[in-house]
Amino acid sequence: MNGKLYLCPTPIGNLNDITYRTLETLKSVDLIAAEDTRVSAKLLNHFDIKVPTTSYYEHNKREKGNYLIEKLLSGTNIAVITDAGMPGISDPGEDLVKLCIQNGIEIEALPGPCAFATALVASGMPTGRFAFEGFLTVNKKNRLEHLQSVRNDTRTLIFYEAPHKLLSTLRDMLEVFGNRKIVLARELTKKFEEYNRTTLQDAVTYYEETSPKGEFVLIIEGADAKKLEEEYLNSLPSAETLLKKYSAEGMRAKELTRRVADELKQPRREIYDLYLNIKDTL
Ligand code: SAM
Repeated sequence: MNGKLYLCPTPIGNLNDITYRTLETLKSVDLIAAEDTRVSAKLLNHFDIKVPTTSYYEHNKREKGNYLIEKLLSGTNIAVITDAGMPGISDPGEDLVKLCIQNGIEIEALPGPCAFATALVASGMPTGRFAFEGFLTVNKKNRLEHLQSVRNDTRTLIFYEAPHKLLSTLRDMLEVFGNRKIVLARELTKKFEEYNRTTLQDAVTYYEETSPKGEFVLIIEGADAKKLEEEYLNSLPSAETLLKKYSAEGMRAKELTRRVADELKQPRREIYDLYLNIKDTL
C-alpha cells in the first residue's frame, strides 16, 4: 500500500502555535522532509520528535522529489515541513503535491500558521477579496512588471518581503501604485510583533531613516474602483470627436449615432441630440 504525504505547517515565530494534530502527525510518520534540516532540528528537538529527516528544498526538489515519491510508493508515510509556516506558500511543497497527484498518492494538508493569513486578518484592510502575490523578484524590470500587472486590481494585495529588500520594494510600489494605504506586519507572533498602518509615502520616508529589521508581510489597499472608472471615462474621446471622425469616414446619421453611442456606452438619444446640434459643422 502507498504511504501518505502530510503537509505540516510549523510556527512562524511562536512555538506554541504548533497544533496537536501537527505534533501527532510529525511523531507518527516514517520520514520528515524538511526545507532546512538544521532549522527544523530545533523545532523537532523542542517537541522531542525523533523521526528521521531528509532535506527537500528549492534546489534539490527535482531529484529529491523523485526519491520521496519512490519512498511513498513503497509505503513510507512522509511529512513535509518548511522553515516556518505553511508548506507550498512561498515555500517548497507545490511540486511534490503535483508529483503525488500524478502518482496516485494520497495527500493530507493540516491547517496551521501562515504569515499572510495572520497579517491580513489583523490589518484592517478588506479581507473579502484579496490577492496573495508572494515575493517580488530581485530583477528591477520584472519587479516593476509584476507590480504593473496588479496596479488595477481592486482586491487587497499581499506581498512577502525580506528586510534588506524592503526599502527598494516600497519605492517601487510607490512609483507604480501611488500613495496608497499599506500595513507593514512585522515579526508576527514574536516578541517584537508590530503592525504599522500607514501610507506608501510615509513608509518610504520612515525606512529611509530606519533600518528595517525582521520579516515583513505587506498588505496594500487595492485600486480604487471609482478612480479607475473616472480614469477610463477621461481617457475616452469625446462624443463630438467621434461624430466628426466617423462622419469624415462617410457614415450617415443613423449608423453614425449608433456607433458613437455604443462606443461610449451612452444613450443613443443623447448622441443624436448632439449630432443635430453640430451636424452643420461635420
Ligand atoms: N510558508 C510561509 C508561510 O506560510 O507564511 C512563508 C515562507 S516565506 C519563505 C518567508 C516569508 O514569509 C518572510 O520573508 C516574510 O515575508 C513572511 N513571514 C514569515 N514569518 C513571518 C513573521 N513571523 N512575521 C512576518 N512575516 C513573516
